[in-house]
Amino acid sequence: MLKFILNGITPNQLVIQYTDMCNAQCPQCGMNVTERFHRSRLKQDMVKKIIDAAVKRGLKIIQFTGGEPLMFFDEIVSLIKYAGNAGVKYILTGTNGFMFANHNSPDFVEKIKKVVEKLADTKVYSFWISIDSAVPEVHEKMRGLPGVIKGIEKALPIFHGHGIYPAANLLLNRNVGGFWNGDGQESGDFFEYFKNAIRDLFAFVVNMGFTTSIAAYPMSTNGVHEDIDPVYMSASSEDIVRFPEDEKVLLLQAYFAVISELRHKIRIFTPRSALYSLIRQYTIGESYCYPCLGGYGSFFIDAQEGNAYPCGYRGKENLGKYWEMESVNIDHKPSCLKCDWECFRDASEFFGPIQDIFTMPWKFMKRTVTDNQYIRLWLKDILYFRACDFFNGRVPPNFKKLSKFAGN
Ligand code: SF4
Ligand code: SF4
Repeated sequence: MLKFILNGITPNQLVIQYTDMCNAQCPQCGMNVTERFHRSRLKQDMVKKIIDAAVKRGLKIIQFTGGEPLMFFDEIVSLIKYAGNAGVKYILTGTNGFMFANHNSPDFVEKIKKVVEKLADTKVYSFWISIDSAVPEVHEKMRGLPGVIKGIEKALPIFHGHGIYPAANLLLNRNVGGFWNGDGQESGDFFEYFKNAIRDLFAFVVNMGFTTSIAAYPMSTNGVHEDIDPVYMSASSEDIVRFPEDEKVLLLQAYFAVISELRHKIRIFTPRSALYSLIRQYTIGESYCYPCLGGYGSFFIDAQEGNAYPCGYRGKENLGKYWEMESVNIDHKPSCLKCDWECFRDASEFFGPIQDIFTMPWKFMKRTVTDNQYIRLWLKDILYFRACDFFNGRVPPNFKKLSKFAGN
């Protein structure tokens, strides 16, 4: 019975990298179009086999990512349908926005309508569009997609008209407030600089028409834990995502402050309790964090071979084919805290206390007393997630419910 309940609440998730091909130039990513390596994409039959095995194992969340997954739009649509029919409730995918770049072409609206109609005909739960900077020219230069911001602005009402509310996928990087030249970021104003820049970024995406946001923490290949060897090459050694630990803390604190200010104006997915934990990991140590569920129900599938890994960053641990794995808990007990990958870290923090309630209620009770601040944030996150309809990207925001979170 306990196993059944736990299976029901553990956020087993698969991140399937459908392809590592991409048509954008993002400097923060090892898969950008200028990088030379053998590119690949998975076969549909293999992905379906993975989905079937995962559903049998209690899969809850599936993400189709890239590279740029929508370079193969019809294939992704077909896989979303397959996963939806197999019973997966939380199906996520997204884009760098390349299809919105050519917004002056006469058939732009018709073209986007067709795309949106096809997506609306699936059970996609959440659809993201990446935004890297509050300054349109900076975002477009980083992505190598001129005109994409205007195009997204034109496309969003079409999505909304079909009942899809895309999330702005915001990368925390040095260019969020404009091209970085070191000013303000290397002085004692670092926190204030980023608080203002991240606030501007939110104002920008709200003005564009976004109603939801998610955030990606910066992932650098420099100075990482010795066991980190990415199979998911979405990280980079470039300075725009490289933050020494003291700066990283200030960046995360700035993001925390802005979430608290603005989460009544736009649905912000990042749980504050998860961010609070990450900040503490870098300030007072790891003992307060809930360990990551990568390798414990949650896995990454790579685009080159279709093999499973505990996550996109433990590339030394090739687990072979997902459907041949003997257990979905290759880590006997979750313990990893070696990176900041929000896909797995945020979910692990959010579900950690729930697992404690069912498995070690005394541990949860003790934490309620000894770590009151964390538990208060976590309880607020649950209420906030409920007010956001659990970030269901198929329903509009309810600003009346969100207004209760103004100023806290
Ligand atoms: S971040 Fe995404 S869009 Fe940009 S280069 Fe990497 S895979 Fe492509
Ligand atoms: S913290 Fe999670 S995502 Fe990061 S290396 Fe460990 S298992 Fe992977």
